[in-house]
Amino acid sequence: MMYNVALVGYGTQGVYHQKNINENDEIDMTVIGSFDIDPAADVDARESGLRVYENVEDLLADPDVDIVFICTPNDSHFPYAMQALKAGKHVLVEKPAMLSSAEMEEASTLAEKSGLMLMVHQNRRWDPDFAVIKKVYDDKTIGEPTYLESRVHGSRGIPGDWRRQRAHGGGMILDWGVHAVDRVLMMVDSPVIDVFGKRSFALGNDCDDGFRAYLTFENGFQAFFDISTTAYIPESMFWMQSGTGALELKDWSMEGKIIRSTGVEEEDATPIQAGVGLTKTMAPRLFDYGEFYGRTPPIEVLELPQVKTDVMEFYYNAVDVLDGAAEPVIKNDSVIRCLRILEAVVESDETGEVLHPESPDQKIR
Ligand code: NAD
Repeated sequence: MMYNVALVGYGTQGVYHQKNINENDEIDMTVIGSFDIDPAADVDARESGLRVYENVEDLLADPDVDIVFICTPNDSHFPYAMQALKAGKHVLVEKPAMLSSAEMEEASTLAEKSGLMLMVHQNRRWDPDFAVIKKVYDDKTIGEPTYLESRVHGSRGIPGDWRRQRAHGGGMILDWGVHAVDRVLMMVDSPVIDVFGKRSFALGNDCDDGFRAYLTFENGFQAFFDISTTAYIPESMFWMQSGTGALELKDWSMEGKIIRSTGVEEEDATPIQAGVGLTKTMAPRLFDYGEFYGRTPPIEVLELPQVKTDVMEFYYNAVDVLDGAAEPVIKNDSVIRCLRILEAVVESDETGEVLHPESPDQKIR
C-alpha cells in the first residue's frame, strides 16, 4: 500500500526525509505536507510542493495523512507523538526518541494499545563504519572481543541553536549518545551490569558538550564511549581488542586495519629502546622507531572487511510494518533500554557512583 506522510518540523531532517522518500520510487510513501513554527520553513515547504498546515491540529485532522514524521527539536517529540497517536496516526520520530525512558515507555504503550506504529529513526545502526565493527565482533575475526572504544570527536562545539539548550533536550548524551550506545547495545547480547559516566561542560552551556562512559556487560565485554565536541586532535572512532588481536577504524574515511595473531608459537621478543629504558613486554608488533623498526612475528595484518548497508531499509521496513509484513526493525524496547543506560550515565556523573542498571539486584554484583 502507499502511505502519506506529513512532517512536523521542516528543518534539516524534515527536508532530508522528504528527499529520501519522494525521490525513491521503491519507498511506498509520499511526503505530502508539513507543519513548522518558522514561517521561512513554510515558504520552502510550499515551494517544494507540500501542503502547509497552519497548526499541528490541522495536520492531524487531515484524513489523507497516514504517518506523522516528527523532525522537531528533541523536547517536542513526546508531546507531538502522544498527540499524533491519540489522533490515530502512525508515528515516525527522529532520535532521540524522547527526553527520557519514561516518556518513551508511555508513548510506546499508547502506540501498542492503539495498534499504531511508533518507530524511531536510529539510522546510525546502518553506518558502514559500525557495520565493520559488528561484523568483526560477530565473525570473531580477532577471536573473542573483550573491549571496544567508540568515539565521535569533533572540535566545533555545539551548533548555536536549540542543540545547546537543555530546555530543548540539547547536549551530546541525547545527540550522539543515543547513536553510539544504541548500536553497541544492539551488538552485544548481554545485560549491562556496570555503568560509570562523566559529562563534559567545557563550553559552559547548560547541557553537556560531550561525555565519557564505561559500560561492563555481564558476559565480560567492556565498552568505553567518548563523545566530544572539543576534541581538536580526534582519536580513532573505533578501537576493539581481544586476547589475540585488535582493530582500529580511524574515521568516516573508513581507514583502518586489523592485526591478529596467526596462532603460531611466538619466539621471545627482542627488547626495544622505549624512552630511556628497554622493554620487550611492550615492544609493538609493527614499529618504526628510527634504528629500531620491524614487524614482530607471528602476526598478520588484515584490511577491514567491507560491509554494504542501505539506510533506506528504515523506510522500507516502516511500510512493511504497516502492511503487516514485518516486525519493526527498530524495536521500541531497544530504544527504551538505550535511554535507561544513558540515564545511568547521567546519574553516575551526578553521584560519582558506578550504577548497575541491568544487574539482577540493581546492586553490586
Ligand atoms: P533543525 O533545527 O534543522 O530543524 C528543526 C525544525 O523544527 C525547524 O524548522 C524549526 O523551525 C522547527 N520547529 C522547532 N520547534 C517546533 C515546534 N514546536 N513545532 C513545529 N516545528 C518546530 O533541526 P534538525 O537538525 O532537523 O533536527 C530535528 C530532529 O532531528 C532532532 O530531534 C535531531 O536530534 C534529529 N536529528 C537526527 C539526525 C539523524 O541522523 N538521525 C541528524 C540530525 C538531527
